[in-house]
Amino acid sequence: MGVKEKRTAPATAAAADATHRHIQQNERFGAHNYHPLPVILERGEGVYVWDVEGRRYMDMLSAYSALNQGHRHPRIVAAMKEQLDRLTLTSRAFHNDQLGPFVEELCGLAGYEKVLPMNSGAEAVETAIKAVRKWGYDQKGVPANQAEIVVCEGNFHGRTTTIVGFSTEDLYREGFGPFTPGFRLIPYGDVEALEAAMNDRTVAFLVEPIQGEAGVVVPPDGFLRGAAELCRKRGVLLVADEIQTGLGRTGKLFASQWDNVRPDVLIVGKALGGGFYPVSAALADGEVMDVFTPGSHGSTFGGNPLAAAVARASLRVIVEERLAEHAAEVGAWFMDELRRIASPHVAQVRGRGLLIGVVIKDESGRARPFCEALMRRGILAKETHDQVVRFAPPLVVTRAQLEEVLPSIAEVLRTGG
Ligand SMILES: *Cc1c(COP(=O)(O)O)cnc(C)c1O
Repeated sequence: MGVKEKRTAPATAAAADATHRHIQQNERFGAHNYHPLPVILERGEGVYVWDVEGRRYMDMLSAYSALNQGHRHPRIVAAMKEQLDRLTLTSRAFHNDQLGPFVEELCGLAGYEKVLPMNSGAEAVETAIKAVRKWGYDQKGVPANQAEIVVCEGNFHGRTTTIVGFSTEDLYREGFGPFTPGFRLIPYGDVEALEAAMNDRTVAFLVEPIQGEAGVVVPPDGFLRGAAELCRKRGVLLVADEIQTGLGRTGKLFASQWDNVRPDVLIVGKALGGGFYPVSAALADGEVMDVFTPGSHGSTFGGNPLAAAVARASLRVIVEERLAEHAAEVGAWFMDELRRIASPHVAQVRGRGLLIGVVIKDESGRARPFCEALMRRGILAKETHDQVVRFAPPLVVTRAQLEEVLPSIAEVLRTGG
C-alpha cells in the first residue's frame, strides 16, 4: 500500500524537469490568481500526496477542509464509481433517485427541516443571503430593498462580487466594484457591536464560528451563544457559515455546537463533497426555506445525482468513522504538542479540533518561508494571510502519523527553516 511508503530517494534530473515544466505551463497559460507552493502533485491516498518526482508529503491543508475524509476515501470512490455507471446529471427539471435520500439524510444529520443543494461554497452563501433577505420582506415586514445583514471584519465567505463586497480584505475587493449594498460590518467576537449594528431592517447576522481564512481566529468564549440569544431577542436570523468549520473539522459535527447554538441557517460545503466533487448546501427550517418558490432560485448542477451520491457517502464516512470525535481527541493532543515546541518565532498556537493556526511573530518574517521549509521536509501546509501557518490535516490522520512529522515541524518552528 502506498501509505506505507516512505519518502523516496532524491529526484532525478528528468523528474525535476517535469516539475519545472508544469510550473512554466501554468505560469504561461493559467491566470495568476493563486500563488501555490512549487510542488506538482500527482497522487493522493489518505493523509498523503506524492509529487511528480516521487516524493511523499503529508497533506496538512486538506484543500481548506474539503478533504476531511482524506484523499480518495475508498467508500466514496466506490459510491462515485457506482453512480458514474448509472446517472450523472438530470437538472432539476426532473427528479433523480439520489436527491431525495441525500436531502433527507443531510436534514436528519444536521437537524433541519429543509435543505437547498448547490455546488460551490460561495453559491450556498449566496443562497443563504437570498433566503434571509426574502424572509425579511415576506415574514419580518422589512420595506422592499432595505434589508440589512450584519457581517464580521475578517470574514471569508467566498469570491462572488456580492460576497467580496463585504470583505475587509483589500486584495479581495480592489478593482471589483461596484458592490451590492445591504451589509454592515462589526468587529469579530463583539456582541455589543452586533447589538449596536441592528435595527428594524436587520434580517440576519452572517458569521463563521471560527474564522478560518482570517488565520484560524477563535472568538472569545460565549460569543456565538451571546450572538444567538441577541438574534432571537431581536427577530434576526443567525446564519452560520460552516463551510470550513463544519463536518467534524473542529471536533464537533458543527463548530456551533461548541456553544450549544443551533443557527437558523446553516451553510455547508467543502467536505460535503468528500474531496471528489463540489457539493454545498444551505439548511434551514420551513419558515425560512419556504420563501423559495419554483423559479425563484436554482442551479443547473445543484442536487445532481452524482453530487448527491458522493455527498451521501461523504456524510456516512464522517459519521460512521466518528471523524468529529477523532478530531477532538487527536486535535487537542496535537495542539498541546505544538504549544510545547520552544520556538522564538511562534507568537501563538490557536484553534479547535484539527483546525489549528500557528501565528508567526512579525519580527520573524512571514509565514510563507516556514511553509516552504515544511515542504522541503515532506509536510504541505499553507500560510493564511501573512503570519499564520494553518495545520488542518485530513481528519482520518492518526496520532502515530502526526508523531512522525512533529520533529520536522518542531525543527522548522525553532530554526525558522
Ligand atoms: C472556502 C469557504 C467558502 C467558499 O467556498 P468555495 O467552495 O470556495 O466557493 C465560504 N466560506 C468559508 C468559511 C470558506 O472556508
